[in-house]
Amino acid sequence: NETNISSTNTTTCCYCGVGCGIVVNKDIHERITVEGDKNHPVNKGMLCSKGMNLHYTVNDKSDRLLYPEMRYNKNMPLQRVSWDTALDRTAAVFKALIKKHGPDSVAFYASGQCLTEEYYVVNKLIKGFIGSNNIDTNSRLCMSSAVVGYKMSLGEDTVPISYDDIEIADCIFVAGANPAWCHPILWRRVEAAKQNNPDLKIIVSDPRKTQTCSLADVHLQLNPGTDITLHHAIGRCLIEDRNVDADFIINNTNGYEKYHETVFETSIADAAAICGIEESDIRLAASYIGNAKGFITMWTMGLNQSVVGTNKNLSLINLNLITGHIGKPGSGPFSLTGQPNAMGGREVGGLSNLLPAHRNLANENHRNEVEKFWQIPLGTIQAKPGLTATEMFDELNSGKLKAVWILCTNPLISLPDVRTAEAGLKNARFVVVQDISNKVETLKYADVVLPAAAWAEKEGTMTNAGRYIAYLSKITEAPGEALPDSEIICRFAQKMGYHGFDFKNSAAIYDEHAALTEGTNIDISGLNYEILKEKRAVQWPYPKNKNSAGTARLFTDHQFYTPDKRANIVAVSHINQSEALSPEYPLILTTGRIRDQWHTRSKTGKVNKLNQHISESFLEINPVDAEARNIKDNDIIEVQSSRGNVRVKAKYSTDIKPGVVFMPMHWGLILKSDLNRVNNLTNNLVDPLSKEPDFKFTAVEVKLY
Ligand code: SF4
Repeated sequence: NETNISSTNTTTCCYCGVGCGIVVNKDIHERITVEGDKNHPVNKGMLCSKGMNLHYTVNDKSDRLLYPEMRYNKNMPLQRVSWDTALDRTAAVFKALIKKHGPDSVAFYASGQCLTEEYYVVNKLIKGFIGSNNIDTNSRLCMSSAVVGYKMSLGEDTVPISYDDIEIADCIFVAGANPAWCHPILWRRVEAAKQNNPDLKIIVSDPRKTQTCSLADVHLQLNPGTDITLHHAIGRCLIEDRNVDADFIINNTNGYEKYHETVFETSIADAAAICGIEESDIRLAASYIGNAKGFITMWTMGLNQSVVGTNKNLSLINLNLITGHIGKPGSGPFSLTGQPNAMGGREVGGLSNLLPAHRNLANENHRNEVEKFWQIPLGTIQAKPGLTATEMFDELNSGKLKAVWILCTNPLISLPDVRTAEAGLKNARFVVVQDISNKVETLKYADVVLPAAAWAEKEGTMTNAGRYIAYLSKITEAPGEALPDSEIICRFAQKMGYHGFDFKNSAAIYDEHAALTEGTNIDISGLNYEILKEKRAVQWPYPKNKNSAGTARLFTDHQFYTPDKRANIVAVSHINQSEALSPEYPLILTTGRIRDQWHTRSKTGKVNKLNQHISESFLEINPVDAEARNIKDNDIIEVQSSRGNVRVKAKYSTDIKPGVVFMPMHWGLILKSDLNRVNNLTNNLVDPLSKEPDFKFTAVEVKLY
């Protein structure tokens, strides 16, 4: 009822990296409704099923943590305490551990769903004041291979294109991604572009025939782990057909000769056999790319979440570089960010190997710049990278890491080889859990529980997959005593006795972060909350005194961020390093998302409408593999790897290749049973450069339960 509306605000969706704009109406009973923001440059009024149902997650407060809790020893139950008591005790424990075991005995494990301001203060706290680089986030599980790929090829962690390039491309190669389900509104833009321009060619490579494939002109249903072979083969076809940009290669790149040599090591016919696809389809895909004036590569977890994730990224970006399809309309490499603010987190340096504004941790000058800015003694920031996501839990197991503070993420569902990670948490001396939900699995191991404000209950900013920074409004009050994450961290820092955390509001944190970017390649020193509120979303860089309107496309001058300004065509090995299949474990398990759930379901799992899409976990299996094991559709089956097991229903599908099975990543309530938790099965292999886990390739066997 419109007469009951007490306020209308604009904000940004908190789920995926697309970053859609939302209009929120609040009624006189503090209940909210949502609709797509027609004036937003990203979604132009559209929302997917998750965004459309966001209000349920705010209006239903039945699962919320309401006040701080604490236990004085592991045998005692948690009991309600005041904020001061919880933070005083946490500060006392942290101080004691740091004094006795050094700064690296503590760690923060955060999230790509944190707001940029939250990321900024956690990173400042541990790197600048505690003196350790032990801050990592679940973005390590998601984007870190793309980060390293961009750095190695373009010189910096940089998405060069704009969403508007989609509408002017005439070939899009979607590699290892299902954006129709995982980035739905971005994909609506691709669908609309195809409708307006039937000559737009869509290439999809994926071992599964997903919803995205319904728009494909060619679906390359490759064997898992063979992406690099495919990219090399396409590169070879482009070279043979003289569809490369010789001028661009000569004037603006390094490494072409070695690349040429590498891709000619394997014939197209052999590559097709390795990938399990038709040679003619590889040639067809290459011809689409070769004939395109605008060519976008688009990828996500199928490439990133791999033991050779960096190499997969490089081999795909190479296709943009050899064809010169970068820095010009409708062209460029475009990694689809999984989480809403994975990019914003990297901008503030929120991973264990980063510094703010894409500065380099290993560079003493960069460390000194940040130290001066934070007014701390030179030499405070350590050069050595801290523990990554999986390393933190390994070191909790070994006992080297004593305390971990987990905020805004649910690692006991999302980490690989999760039973080992869980043993680490059990072994931890001290665990702080800062969250919105009273259902997250980590609470079982928490010594201190800190209730956080959720989406619409706090303000801040995020950066989406296309470098668009957007503002999120505070629309309603947080329940109970819950506080914004940045305020919790700042209160704690002050309890530790550190200066530089007495920000009067989120805008002040943002302004400090923006000032620290001045003069860098991601300079946003001209951007503030007022501009963001007015423009809704702007692409960085946005330097001050330039009358900037943001920067839609990077590298238009073909000057890259490498020392010699040339992009690197990096010739990589095609060899996959995933665990070997065996007679005991002959099937390849891949994991991923479904359309209507988000991560570990702590929000989407409480929305009935979203649960109606797919209500429980399952194993997708080709009937050929199922019948060979006497498994019928919907039978309860046991899936086993050398790490653990799960028990779910079999779901027949001819859309998945024989030899490959798929399970969603979302389920796994350990409070009841952990037997629907797919990460019981996955392994602890990581990419040696990006340290991203190998979620897409686990050797398993399946049998009737
Ligand atoms: Fe939210 Fe992503 Fe859906 Fe947009 S596409 S409404 S950002 S979940």
